Order: sequence, then C-alpha cells, then structure tokens
Amino acid sequence: MGLQVTLHTDLPAPALRLDIDLDALQSNWRVLDRMSGAARAGAAVKADAYGLGVRKVVPALQAAGCDDFFVAHWSEVGAVLDVARPGGRPGSLSVLHGPLNGADAAYARSVGVKPVINSLEQARRWIDAGGGLCDLMVDTGMNRLGVALDELGAPVLAELDVDVLLSHLVAAEEDVPLNALQRERWEHARGRIRHRRASLANSGGIALGAAYHGDLTRPGIALYGGVPRPDMAGVLRQVVRPQASILQVRHVAAGETIGYNATFTAPAAMRVGTIALGYADGYLRCWSGKGIFRAGEIELPVLGRVSMDLTVVDLSHAPQVGEGDWITADYALARASAATGLSQYELLTLLGRRFGR
Ligand SMILES: *Cc1c(COP(=O)(O)O)cnc(C)c1O
Repeated sequence: MGLQVTLHTDLPAPALRLDIDLDALQSNWRVLDRMSGAARAGAAVKADAYGLGVRKVVPALQAAGCDDFFVAHWSEVGAVLDVARPGGRPGSLSVLHGPLNGADAAYARSVGVKPVINSLEQARRWIDAGGGLCDLMVDTGMNRLGVALDELGAPVLAELDVDVLLSHLVAAEEDVPLNALQRERWEHARGRIRHRRASLANSGGIALGAAYHGDLTRPGIALYGGVPRPDMAGVLRQVVRPQASILQVRHVAAGETIGYNATFTAPAAMRVGTIALGYADGYLRCWSGKGIFRAGEIELPVLGRVSMDLTVVDLSHAPQVGEGDWITADYALARASAATGLSQYELLTLLGRRFGR
C-alpha cells in the first residue's frame, strides 16, 4: 500500500507549547482601559496578536469588553473575522496599511472592515471604490505612513467619512519633548478634519495622561505582558510562557562539553536535559549560556549553545524532572529584553509555528 494521506483529528501533540494566560490578558486590557480614562481601549492584534494567535486573543478581549481592533495587513483580516464573537464581528476592525490597490478597497467594502487611509492617493482610491466608513492616519512625526499636516486641506479628505482620526507616537516609552509636539500636531489635525473619534496613544502613550487619550487608545504590547514604561510595571501581568518537554536526559562527565562549538564544559558530573526548542522557534542564540528554564521553583540554566531545534538545560538540581516532563522558560518580557537585547516586541513575534498555542 502506498503512503496514505488522511486527515487526522488526533495529530501528535507538539513538544513545544505557549502557555497563554487569558485571565492576565483580560486583566491587562481592563487595566489599560481604566488608565485610558474617558477614552476606550482598543487592541492592536496585528502579526497574529503579536504571535499569541488571534484565535484565542480576539474572543478573550471581546469578552473583556474590547470593541476596536487593529491589524496591519489585509491578509490578517480573515482570521480575525473568523473568530469574532459568534453572530457578529468586532465592533470595528481597522487595517493599518490602508488600501494599496482597488482590490484591497473592494475587499474592505465587501467584508465591512475599515481601511486606515494613509495618503491622499489612498483617500482617492477609497472614494473611487465607493468609499464608506474609514479611519485616517495623520503623520505627526514618525514619517512612515500618514497624511502630512500640510495636506490636511486637500479636498479629497473632506469627502471621507472618518471614524477614527489617528496618529502614532514615536517614543511614548520615553519622556521626550517630541511627545508633546506630536500631541499638539494631532490636536491641530482634530480641528481640521471632520471625524467621529480621535486616537493617539499606543501602550506607552496611555501612561502619558489624559491629554493623550482622545476617544480611543490602541495598546498592543502591554496587553501581552510587555512593560513599555517602568511606571506601568506594577499593574501589567505576564501573559506568555514558552514551555518545552524534555526529549532526553543525559549524564555528562566532568570535562565533557555540551553543544556546538563546545562553549560549555561540565565542571563536574552533571545530569542534563535536552529540549525540542531552538532558534528556529524564536529562542535565539542570544539565550546561549544565559537562558533559564524552571521546573516549579527550581532553576534550570541553559548550557552551551542554543541550536536550531535543540537546547540543553541543567537538571542537576531537579532530580525529579525526567523525559516527557514540561519545563517553562523565564520569559517575563522586560527582564528577557534586558537579558538579550531583543525588544519586547521581538521576543513575542519571534515565537515560531512549532509552538502549540
Ligand atoms: C502596533 C501599533 C500600535 C500598538 O503599539 P504598542 O506599542 O504595541 O502598544 C498602535 N498603533 C499603531 C498604528 C500600531 O502600528
């Protein structure tokens, strides 16, 4: 008999998983919504909810009370609509990159999501496609996307039916003069463009105070356990914990080395465990000799180089931990960022498809 391809409902269980604490996610959203004062908090769920997976994240945020969602690409819309509250869709779903062509605009109209208009060309494209409710991005200093301040009088903008008039902060996680300057430019735009709601703050911007809140805030990283500013540290909970199961336990003699390039030499006889996690999963080589896993309270340091699919941890102090047991990476984002030099955003969005979510 030849190789049979069948659809299994009982696929082998993954040897990696992301423990995603949906209570913590919902708690973070509520905290950020409260910190947003009179404004409502929305949620940035681009890049598959920063790698956590929109399938779990969007329904949990909706259940917490979130109504406004943002993705970057048109290709991300379908997955969000598929999991939106049964019988409905998110109160509003916006696509940050805007319509790049007529097909994007037609798709937006057919599924009922809002393009974020980023230029006069996109505004014209949207109107020519039939228009409808949209958002409008005004550039106040980032110089990536958005209509420039000296374009605000363009007649085509007056034809738009703007729901959210938004701009994006360059450095909300720092106390720099640019924050106030961007706020002033955004307020100027609010006076020039007819709109229903105004929005400026990302996660860090929420902590800058009421003047930055407008009607809607757009947290991303802080929802998922990132700490954009030290003054937000106490109130946000960790959401994501990478976990790996132990493939093999080994006994290494004193003087033996572990892993590529023999960067670790056992100072004494050691009991070690090999896990099915590597840089192909987003656990990058910067964790080599530096990462910590845990079994309960016991620390299991990473020994030697992280390789593509495998990493070795020290089980010397965890004699009860054996093959098949799950261990958890230290992955509190602010600390992990300080340890590796990776941004908190990278630490989340790197986590690969081999993690069960
Ligand atoms: C990604 C993004 C956000 C969320 O930013 P965080 O720093 O993750 O809170 C908000 N607004 C826009 C336009 C974005 O691109």
